[in-house]
Amino acid sequence: MNAAQVWRRLSGRSQSAKPPRVGGIVTESGPDAGPDDSHGIILYLEDITVSFDGFRALNALTLYIQTGELRCIIGPNGAGKTTMMDVITGKTRPDSGSAWFGQTLDLLSLNEPEIARSGIGRKFQKPTVFEQHNVYENLQLAAAGDKTPWATLFKPLSGTQRERIDSVLETVRLTDRRAARAGALSHGQKQWLEIGMLLMQEPQLLLVDEPVAGMTPQETERTAELLTSLAGQHSVVVVEHDMNFVRSIAKKVTVLHEGSVLAEGTMDEVQNNRRVIEVYLGE
Ligand code: ADP
Ligand code: MG
Repeated sequence: MNAAQVWRRLSGRSQSAKPPRVGGIVTESGPDAGPDDSHGIILYLEDITVSFDGFRALNALTLYIQTGELRCIIGPNGAGKTTMMDVITGKTRPDSGSAWFGQTLDLLSLNEPEIARSGIGRKFQKPTVFEQHNVYENLQLAAAGDKTPWATLFKPLSGTQRERIDSVLETVRLTDRRAARAGALSHGQKQWLEIGMLLMQEPQLLLVDEPVAGMTPQETERTAELLTSLAGQHSVVVVEHDMNFVRSIAKKVTVLHEGSVLAEGTMDEVQNNRRVIEVYLGE
């Protein structure tokens, strides 16, 4: 039995599931086993409070994300959106509250790399691609994860790896740019490549911070299609300021204000919410 088979047996995953990207002890409840979302909820944040010098960036924040949903988080500057992502990814530890990935992974007991390995991918605002390498190599490097990346470029790819890269290239619509140097891509294409690099690691939950900042209208539209297409297979949480963009992709919107949920519902519901209107008018 090879490592992949062992892992599949232990984690009860299907044939298509992939082994953990780095070595480490594989257990049913360990971070590498991935979340148990059998109750239909992939992320539980409950009563999360984060203080910076007495100032509450998050104030008893409670939020649930369902498996496969595309959730948009909006809110004025300083509402706590980035801090919320920092808590989910282990970059910031809350003073109190609980954060669970599925029912069995206590995010507050895992460090940043463990959280990433457990299946939470985060896309930061600024694209971080390997500029000197071509698009295809970037995806190859991303698949290697924490392993010595450069060696992976010289190793022949397995059929499965090639298929995976081809499928991600299709998803992010960069198939015809596969041989282009990443540094030569447009801003929008770099953002899609970085989303592709996250997808190579097959995250169940994708956190995306302001994906369309600086994009052209066409790029914005394509990004809307891309994120919409990822929902279902992945759970996607998008923080974004561009309201037209949010309107174009949103099913359910959460409005944060002063570190708590101010309103939640469809875009129409939150836009007509009196408290939301007051907060945005006062900005
Ligand atoms: P958003 O992303 O919604 O604009 P943030 O989560 O970045 O909001 O910030 C929430 C609040 O917490 C802001 O008032 C910000 O100044 C404060 N804050 C964030 N990070 C820190 C930090 N490391 N130290 C002190 N204050 C911080
Ligand atoms: Mg922010």
